[in-house]
Amino acid sequence: MESLPPIDPKYHIQTQPLNPPPRLLLGPGPSNAHPRVLQALAMPLVGHLDPQFIHLMNEIQDLLRYAWQTRNPLTIPVSGTGSAAMEATLANLVEPGDVVLVGVNGYFGERLVDMAGRYGAKVKRLEKPWGEVFTLQELKQAIEQEKPAILALVHAETSTGARQPLEGIAELCRKHDCLLLVDTVTSLGGVPLFIDAWGIDAAYSGSQKCLSCPPGIAPLTFNERAADKLHRRKQKVANWYLDLTLVSRYWGSERTYHHTAPISMNYAFREALRLVAEEGLQARWQRHQENAERLWEGLEALGLQCHVPESLRLPSLTTVRIPEGVDGKKVAQFLLSEFNIEIAGGLGQLAGKVWRIGLMGYNSRKENVALLLHALKEALQHLKA
Ligand code: PLP
Repeated sequence: MESLPPIDPKYHIQTQPLNPPPRLLLGPGPSNAHPRVLQALAMPLVGHLDPQFIHLMNEIQDLLRYAWQTRNPLTIPVSGTGSAAMEATLANLVEPGDVVLVGVNGYFGERLVDMAGRYGAKVKRLEKPWGEVFTLQELKQAIEQEKPAILALVHAETSTGARQPLEGIAELCRKHDCLLLVDTVTSLGGVPLFIDAWGIDAAYSGSQKCLSCPPGIAPLTFNERAADKLHRRKQKVANWYLDLTLVSRYWGSERTYHHTAPISMNYAFREALRLVAEEGLQARWQRHQENAERLWEGLEALGLQCHVPESLRLPSLTTVRIPEGVDGKKVAQFLLSEFNIEIAGGLGQLAGKVWRIGLMGYNSRKENVALLLHALKEALQHLKA
C-alpha cells in the first residue's frame, strides 16, 4: 500500500440521496414511465444467458411483433436509445455508394441524412417545410429520379408534430427495387402503425415515448427484403456494437455472447410492451387520439393555434404556435417551476415559434390534459400581466 500514490480528494464530494422532482413530462420525450415499468426495473438481476432471461427475450420479441404488427423474425431491441436503433438500421442496410433518399421535413430527417452519410451513402434529400408531409406523387417522382436503394421517412416527426401517411409508399418502392425504412420513434404504441400490411421493410423506434419506458433500449425490425440486403453485403457492417449479423446470434437460436444485455432495461421494456398488449392496440390508439383532441379543443379555447393541420396532426405530439408578444421560454419555465410540468420549445425552423406538447403512453390521460390547459392559461395570464 505504501508505494501507491496519494488518493486525490478533489472529487470526493458530499452528495445527498437522490430526490428527483415529481415532474409531469409532457414534452417530446421522455414521457413518464408507467409505475409497473419502474417496478420491473427494480427486480433482481439474472445473467444474460440465464434460461429465464432467454425466455423473457423471446417474450419481448413477440410483444414487439404485436405492437408493430409484424411477423418479422428479425425484431429485436438494441442496447441504447432511439438514435442507437436508428444508427443500427442505417449501419446494417447502407453499403458505401448506395443512394439513400431521405424525406427531410424536420429535425430527425436531418439526423437520418447525417447518419446515412457517415456510412458512405450518396444521400439525396427530398425537402418540405417543417410541419408538412410528402405526397405519394412527390415520392414517386423522387424515386424515379434518384433511383435510391433506400427511401427513409419519419412516420412521426417529433420536431414538427406531423404524421407522414405511409399507405401506398411500399408499392412504389418495390416497383423500383428500393427498401422503405421508417422512423417510428414517436408513433409505436400511440399511433396506428402496421409494419407488414403497409410493406415497411425496416423500422426502428424508442422506448421513452408512447411506450412509457425509460430511455436506454430501442427496438428495430427488418423484413425479409431488408434482411436479404444485410446478408448480401460485400463489406462488414462498419459498426461492431450494432452489427446485426453479430447481435442476432445472441437474439437468435445460437445465443452467442456479443455484449452483456442491459438486463433491467429489458425487464422494463417487457413490462411496457405487456401494458400495450393488455390494453390492446385499438384501444391504445383511440385513447391517444381522444386525449389529443381534448388538448386541441382546449388550446383553441385559449386562443392558441396548432402548427399542423388537424388531418396530419400526431396524437402523440402537438406543436402549438407561440402567440405574438409571448416569451415561449418563460411560459415553459413557469410551467416547470409552478406546476412541475415539462413542455419543450421548437427546434430548427420552428425554434422560438412553437411549443411542443407530448401526450404519450401513460401520460396520455384526461387529467393531464386538464392540468396542462389550466397551467398554460395561468402562465399566459401571469406573463402577459
Ligand atoms: N427519431 C425521432 C422521431 C425522435 O423523436 C427521436 C428522439 O426524440 C429520435 C429519433 C432519437 O431518439 P433518442 O433521443 O432516444 O436517441
